[in-house]
Amino acid sequence: MTAEILDGKAFAAEIRGKVAEHVTRLMADHDLQPGLAVVLVGEDPASEVYVRNKGIATRECGMKSVEHKLPADTPAEDLYALIDQLNADPSVHGILVQFPVPDHLSETEIVSRIDPAKDVDGLSVTNAGLLASGQKTMASCTPLGCLMLLRATLGNLSGKDAVVIGRSNLVGKPMAQLLLRDSCTVTIAHSRTADIAETVRRADIVVAAVGRPQMVPGDWIKPGACVIDVGINRIPAPEKGEGKTRLVGDVDFDSARQVAGYITPVPGGVGPLTIACLLANTVTAACRINGLDEPEGLTA
Ligand code: NAP
Repeated sequence: MTAEILDGKAFAAEIRGKVAEHVTRLMADHDLQPGLAVVLVGEDPASEVYVRNKGIATRECGMKSVEHKLPADTPAEDLYALIDQLNADPSVHGILVQFPVPDHLSETEIVSRIDPAKDVDGLSVTNAGLLASGQKTMASCTPLGCLMLLRATLGNLSGKDAVVIGRSNLVGKPMAQLLLRDSCTVTIAHSRTADIAETVRRADIVVAAVGRPQMVPGDWIKPGACVIDVGINRIPAPEKGEGKTRLVGDVDFDSARQVAGYITPVPGGVGPLTIACLLANTVTAACRINGLDEPEGLTA
C-alpha cells in the first residue's frame, strides 16, 4: 500500500476560505469585524517572522490585526497592563502572546492573564479544563487543525483506536482530549511508555508530537492507518550542500508511507493548519463574545 499524502496547505486554504466567508457575513449582518491582537516581546527573528505571517493571514481573511512589539526588558507589570487593556477592548476578540518570551517573564502567568474568552491559543487552564470536562472550549490551534484534517479524511472517528505520541500541554494532551471527545479509544504514549512500537501498531490513527526526527518507522504503523506528523525537526542535509539542513517530522516518511493509508508530509502537512486554526478560533471567539451563532465546521 502507498499512502495518500494529505495536503495540509490545501486544507489550510479551505479553512481560511471558510473563515473569510464567515467574516464577510459577520461584517454584513452584524457590523462585526473580528480582531486578533498579537504581542511580541523582544526581537527573536523567528518569532518576528511568525508574528508578521499571522498579521498577513489575519488581514487576508478580512479581520482586524493588531500588533504590539515590546522591548525584551519589558517588566511583567507593563505586559500585564497591555493584556488587561486588550481584554477590555471590544474590537479585540483574540489575544496571543508569541512564545518564547524572555526569561524574566512567566508563560504560565501570561496565559492566565488573558481572558479565557479571548485565549485563541487555547492554552489557559480554563480552556484546558473545559476541554477535559467535555464543555465548550477554545481548543489549542495545532491539535484543532489535526482533528479537522482527521474528520475531513476519515469522516466519523467514533470507535477508532488512536495513539498520540507526546503529552505536552500544547499538542499531545489537547489532541488526546479532542480525539476522546470524538469517541476514539485513545492511548497517550510518551518517553516512559514501555513498548511504544506495539502501542502504535494497534492504532488506526497515529498523531506524532514528539520533536525527535523520524522516530516512528514504517514497521510501527498498522497497514492503512492515518498518520498525522506534528513534529518539526531540522536535520543536516549534506546532499543539498555543506552546512545545509532540511525539515523532517517525527515519522520516517519514506517507510511509513509504504504502510499507512494516509500520511501528512513535513513540511506542508500539519504546519499550515496552525495559523488557519488561529483565525478560526478568533472568529469563534468574536461570535461567542457577541452572543452569535458559531461558524460551522471551524470548532471542535
Ligand atoms: P514537547 O513539549 O517537547 O513534548 C514532547 C513530548 O514527546 C513529551 O511529552 C515527551 O514525553 C515525548 N517524548 C520525548 N521523547 C520521546 C520518546 N523517545 N518516545 C516517546 N515520547 C517521547 O513538544 P511539543 O511542543 O508537544 O512539540 C512536539 C513537536 O511538534 C515538536 O517537533 C514541535 O516543533 C512540533 N510542533 C509543531 C507545530 C506545528 O506544526 N504547527 C506546533 C507545535 C509543535 P515526556 O513527557 O515523557 O517527556
